[in-house]
Amino acid sequence: MAEKKEAPKGAAKSGKGKKRTKGSYYKVEGNSLKRKKSCPKCGAGVFMAEHKDRAHCGNCGYTEFR
Ligand SMILES: [Zn+2]
Repeated sequence: MAEKKEAPKGAAKSGKGKKRTKGSYYKVEGNSLKRKKSCPKCGAGVFMAEHKDRAHCGNCGYTEFR
């Protein structure tokens, strides 16, 4: 009656599928505060929007390339 479930040998736990992190993106949730840059023109408090390869201030339009 009861179906015996056999765990596949070394399933899921070895190698494959372990490196599945979304680490390819810049923004890390929960850690984004660290990445936030304040605009050098507007001063602290005005944060710049992070783009792929640049930071942009929506307030004054200042753009900083990386
Ligand atoms: Zn600015």
